[in-house]
Amino acid sequence: MELKYGGKKGKKMRKRTWCYIQQPSSYEISCDACNGQNLAWSEFCGMVWCYDCKIDTRGNEGIFGGPIPLEVSEMLGVRFDRFYFRDKSIRKMEVKGDKLVWRKEKRKG
Ligand SMILES: [Zn+2]
Repeated sequence: MELKYGGKKGKKMRKRTWCYIQQPSSYEISCDACNGQNLAWSEFCGMVWCYDCKIDTRGNEGIFGGPIPLEVSEMLGVRFDRFYFRDKSIRKMEVKGDKLVWRKEKRKG
């Protein structure tokens, strides 16, 4: 499975429309400037914000640098559910055949 944390490399900076619910450090992402993990998701695709360096940076990709064994990450409590800013919805990742889908949670009422 190929999972990303934002846009493709080399592309123009675009604003994020979603971010993973868990913090970048949950995915072993670290700052490529200071190697720290005092990070939040940047407002830009494929970037993280380092609280220590006070920069938006690509960071070290952590587990996104290679194929992710989903069963293993699940066992370790790593989830890939996303939060979408536009409608403030949480979407859970599901595996559909060989595809990954993010389905909106149904709300009561
Ligand atoms: Zn840093």
